[in-house]
Amino acid sequence: MENTKEMRAWLDAMKLDHPLVIAGPCSAETEEQVMKIAYELKDTDVNYYRAGIWKPRTRPGMFEGVGAIGLKWLLKVKKETGLKTATEVANRAHVELALEHDVDLLWIGARSTVSPFIVQEIADALEGTDKIVLIKNPVNPDLSLWLGAVERLHTANIKNLGVIHRGFSTYEKSKYRNIPEWQLAIDLQTKFPDLPIINDPSHITGKRDMIFDVSQTALDLNFDGLMIETHYDPDNAWSDAAQQVTPKRLVQIMKDLRIRKESDPEMEYNKNLSKLRAQIDILDHQLIDTLGKRMKISDGIGALKKQKNVAVLQSNRWNEILGAMILEGETKGLSEEFVLRMFKAIHQESINHQEKIVNS
Ligand code: PEP
Ligand code: MN
Repeated sequence: MENTKEMRAWLDAMKLDHPLVIAGPCSAETEEQVMKIAYELKDTDVNYYRAGIWKPRTRPGMFEGVGAIGLKWLLKVKKETGLKTATEVANRAHVELALEHDVDLLWIGARSTVSPFIVQEIADALEGTDKIVLIKNPVNPDLSLWLGAVERLHTANIKNLGVIHRGFSTYEKSKYRNIPEWQLAIDLQTKFPDLPIINDPSHITGKRDMIFDVSQTALDLNFDGLMIETHYDPDNAWSDAAQQVTPKRLVQIMKDLRIRKESDPEMEYNKNLSKLRAQIDILDHQLIDTLGKRMKISDGIGALKKQKNVAVLQSNRWNEILGAMILEGETKGLSEEFVLRMFKAIHQESINHQEKIVNS
């Protein structure tokens, strides 16, 4: 599969002067709820009205979606408000029902993208469609699985494609619900610069007060749009209550976001600069995070040494590390002098940590 400008034809044809916005509740709950939110989103920047009809839930026994009846409500939304509609499909039956109800944009959820069988079933059911199909990243940070899904749909002659970055699950606790491995999304953008990429800050953060910042990072990294879960009464939503925002808040978020326009050379320069800076910021955070983890391990070593009454400094081991890192640094274009200085500082901090433990 080759990158081509045609990939973004559907998006370019919309001639938007702001990022694409997909908004609406996590789940369609009742006809009244669907219509009320839709009316509140009418005449805003929202381009597509989303609502989950079939909900993939991690554990059984939770609200699993209203099912096909919800598609009738989406049709009513389109007729009464003019908003285009969007929902998640996870098998052939979903696809057939969604097409019957003229849903304009279908997305494949993170739990489906991990399964080539399911992706292929959906691709076969959608073969040749001119609907827009967006593929969420798989739950695990595997770029080939994500690309594989794009390829399966592309091969099924589905032209209007795009992807959604919704973050990745990890066993480790983090401030995110699903960690935004930005580098992975950037790698995908580098491979397919014309494949539209949408950010889903709702499922990345899991918390409504973090949505603005993640949206801004996404725009700084040149994402084409945002999918934000929106509900008139977020706290009482039947699913994903903590992450949904009110329509009013959504409008404010869109107003406050720094949206960079493409056009004059000056703007182009600024856009490239902030894209690179955003990448640097992400890497700097990762550096601090990694160093923090390294020191925690040092603490563990300190505790072991204390038990056995072994000295903190072991110079053989230290010289081995230093030699290996200088060589590795060379392959990454880092000078010996820099690697030495950096590792001395890291080593010193590590010794301080161990000393504290050993002497406690
Ligand atoms: C959703 O968009 O409501 C959803 C279930 O998302 P994800 O597939 O990202 O978990
Ligand atoms: Mn949700």
